[in-house]
Amino acid sequence: MHTLSNAAVAQEAHRLLAQMGCPASLSAWYLGLQAGPAGPGQNPIAVTSPIDGAELAQAPSATRADYDHLLAECQAAYAVWSQMPAPKRGEIVRQIGDALRQHKEALGKLVSIEAGKITQEGLGEVQEMIDICDFAVGLSRQLYGLTMHSERPQHRMYEQWHPLGVVGIISAFNFPVAVWSWNSMLAAICGNVCIWKPSEKTPLTAVATHYIASKVLADNGLPAGIFALYLGGREQGTWMAEDPRVALVSATGSTRMGRAVGQAVAQRMGKTLLELGGNNAIIITPSADLEMAVRATVFGAAGTAGQRCTTTRRLIVHADVYDQVKDRLVAVYQKLTIGNPLEGNLVGPLIDEAAVQMYESALASAQAEGGRLLVGGKRRAVAGLEGGHYVEPAIVEAQNSYTTVQEETFAPILYLIKYNGGVEEAVQIQNDVKQGLSSAIFTLNMREAEYFLSHRGSDCGIANVNIGTSGAEIGGAFGGEKETGGGRESGSDAWRNYMRRQTNTINYGTALPLAQGISFDV
Ligand code: NAD
Repeated sequence: MHTLSNAAVAQEAHRLLAQMGCPASLSAWYLGLQAGPAGPGQNPIAVTSPIDGAELAQAPSATRADYDHLLAECQAAYAVWSQMPAPKRGEIVRQIGDALRQHKEALGKLVSIEAGKITQEGLGEVQEMIDICDFAVGLSRQLYGLTMHSERPQHRMYEQWHPLGVVGIISAFNFPVAVWSWNSMLAAICGNVCIWKPSEKTPLTAVATHYIASKVLADNGLPAGIFALYLGGREQGTWMAEDPRVALVSATGSTRMGRAVGQAVAQRMGKTLLELGGNNAIIITPSADLEMAVRATVFGAAGTAGQRCTTTRRLIVHADVYDQVKDRLVAVYQKLTIGNPLEGNLVGPLIDEAAVQMYESALASAQAEGGRLLVGGKRRAVAGLEGGHYVEPAIVEAQNSYTTVQEETFAPILYLIKYNGGVEEAVQIQNDVKQGLSSAIFTLNMREAEYFLSHRGSDCGIANVNIGTSGAEIGGAFGGEKETGGGRESGSDAWRNYMRRQTNTINYGTALPLAQGISFDV
């Protein structure tokens, strides 16, 4: 198979950017779209491709003056956007969905180049953006409030939903563009404007996405401040966390980041939507369809090189089928193709060298705690891509109580844990971590499945039966409990996060009765 040379990966990224209408250099983008008072930004960050380590661009970090300038643009845009009827806002979102359809191949490939996902997953990420646009368009004719009966005669009570104002979005590297769309498309139909700070590791895809959305705004004569973007790292993220002009901060990333953002926003009584780390498990019971369970485990644990918040990190297997599952998994892992994500391999690179080091140190400490490495566990050199960050997906026999197992290591390490008793024991092991994002059980036993789904079962935001932990559809509310942060994004009634509820009572009679029958006659 043809291997792209170092220069070719960077060249391809620039070709894709040009194809989507973005300027050749990020400085040009910065000057053109962000033209704040301070010029070309500070401390440019080198953006490299995890595929081969090649530098793709220098990304200028926003200055505080740039940020304030953008915020003012957002506030001005809010005055226009919030006045438009929601279905008209939906029409703009529909056009963004169409523009994403048009650029699906290019943006999906750029996601692969910048984040290291295999092509199929890069395309899947853009499809998710399109799906959420479609979902938001339908919602723009809904946004329902309830009506309720008043205890007072000739009174009517109802509740309605209003936009919040400026919504801030902080996103992680591993879903560099989908997370923006989950938040911004719903926030937009609700009448909010959005300001986005993507991960400092993936600014190119953010700029491309911003171009696509900005063009739709411009074509419709709408202000650019409806969807604002600025670049930078942790410091730039703290600005919106501390800024009372940002009504809601939706932050996706590590629990460490969420703790800091959550505290800063709470300090000023703002709203947060936190989507943080997971430590997801699949339970395999004796009645499971083992072939299905193994396939779901491999996709969940080794897919996206273990860099999904919903990645399967723990496999809790009953003793009766433990050896069978173990042998089958080890055999499949040995066949996984690792290499260039653009060229049909199943496992691409980790995001950077620091991620490789975390993978190595987690494997070392799991083994120091008594874990037994069954397969993988080494760096993998890929010919022609020497600067890339490739590792072999690993399986380690472990105990749930190990410190290493309790933590989320953002890499393809699967901990294999044996249980001997009933489903209650398996669920107890599964819940015995600090995170609570995604969970799954493989069983053909209806009682086990229902126990898993009952209030005594999984304590996670997502609980699946005979489906793995990763790869959620956008129609359901997405998010998790405990240290995962409690936020819900995407489908169902997650739109309510982006609105404020107002209860209205209207008196259409001639008397002024008080609630609870209180008498206060003057
Ligand atoms: P990260 O926490 O390092 O960074 C995420 C974002 O937060 C980046 O934009 C970063 O610049 C910003 N940031 C970091 N510290 C900040 C601070 N103190 N204040 C404000 N902003 C700050 O995460 P990452 O390495 O990019 O992504 C991986 C993590 O994200 C994993 O833990 C993964 O589970 C989690 N994640 C969760 C979800 C979810 O929906 N639950 C989805 C994707 C990723």
